[in-house]
Amino acid sequence: MGADKGTPGWTRRQTLQSMALAGAAAAWSPRTLASDRRIGVALVGLGHYSRDLLAPALELTRHCRLAGLVTGSPEKLPEWQGRYGIPDRNVYSYDDFHRIADNPEIDVVYIVTPNHLHKPLALAAAAAGKHVWCEKPMAMDAAEGEAMVRACRDNRVQLAVGYRMQHEPNTRRFMAMAKERPYGRIVKLRADAGWFGWREGADGAWRLDPARGGGAMYDMGVYCINAARYCTGMEPLAVQAWDETARREVFKGVDETIRFRLEFPEDIVAECVTSFGRNLNTLQVDCERGWYMLSPFQGYEGNQGRASDGTVFAPQLGARPRMQAEQMDQDALAILENRAPRVPGEEGVADLRVVDAAFASAKAGGERVDIARG
Ligand code: NAD
Repeated sequence: MGADKGTPGWTRRQTLQSMALAGAAAAWSPRTLASDRRIGVALVGLGHYSRDLLAPALELTRHCRLAGLVTGSPEKLPEWQGRYGIPDRNVYSYDDFHRIADNPEIDVVYIVTPNHLHKPLALAAAAAGKHVWCEKPMAMDAAEGEAMVRACRDNRVQLAVGYRMQHEPNTRRFMAMAKERPYGRIVKLRADAGWFGWREGADGAWRLDPARGGGAMYDMGVYCINAARYCTGMEPLAVQAWDETARREVFKGVDETIRFRLEFPEDIVAECVTSFGRNLNTLQVDCERGWYMLSPFQGYEGNQGRASDGTVFAPQLGARPRMQAEQMDQDALAILENRAPRVPGEEGVADLRVVDAAFASAKAGGERVDIARG
């Protein structure tokens, strides 16, 4: 234990010295500097998530501002530029995106496009010297994710993955419980994530296109995988996966539903389901002396749950898009304070190693497949 400053062991001179140091630290700490500056964020891809969640969330942040737009749909620009006051000089198409390197108003490129574009856009942003925030799934497979990590490291820019749940307080409590183990050894975990919505002719057809990263595993399965990893604090060793797609006439070449089972060290098993055919949103951790759960566990708001001893996990963050604002403020502070983001690229890669193995297992009818090690 360090000496308490109120104890006789502390001299007046030590106290004054310590106060002076603390004062200097407060005056010069990066956090003080951080509050002076807002990180300029350019959104790439102006679809649902950018329009309905991220852009409104940027208006709630303390450390960010919407500074730029990258789009292949110029017809969207008058509304966006008018609403958010974005000047022409900060607007790019995918073809002239590289010019962003010369724009000092933009610090971060936030990639919010279909999944097959995450890697090429991240590489281009890193080459332009911009920090990269990238939506989940980080890429199409672990090799792509690793290339993104390398490119950002080589260009000395940060790479953060948009796993918003890792900024939500109840989820953060579950992450802490992975270490504290308040109910004893973890025995089993259940994580189900899905939504019913896909029908022929629906908007966002890329979610049904294998070449653009469609299917439920990329979209929702990564929430199950990420949760299984952060609730155990461990990396899974092997996976078995079963493709249970029902509507083959709609889901051609992509998965509608995949059930999978992850084996962790200490004989912990995670049973997961991801689906575009069912509304699923439950996370439960069973331990030797009780259990705890969140449902919803990956909603935009209202994430809540309880434990076997009566503990209640009440919703914490308020209505949408508070969670996205919290995520972007945290990632902006990491840049301003020159420290690693909470959810670095390696997190996305670790999940993609599981996705790679799960796809291989599903293709082999549920064969047990070892998950590659980092
Ligand atoms: P969307 O279809 O609504 O928007 C995608 C945007 O990308 C559109 O503006 C489209 O014009 C543009 N685009 C550029 N190239 C395209 C191409 N080749 N094909 C199709 N569209 C193209 O999708 P969305 O729901 O906004 O999802 C975008 C990304 O955000 C995905 O990676 C998704 O997984 C992620 N996302 C994350 C969350 C979250 O909660 N973290 C929620 C929704 C989406």
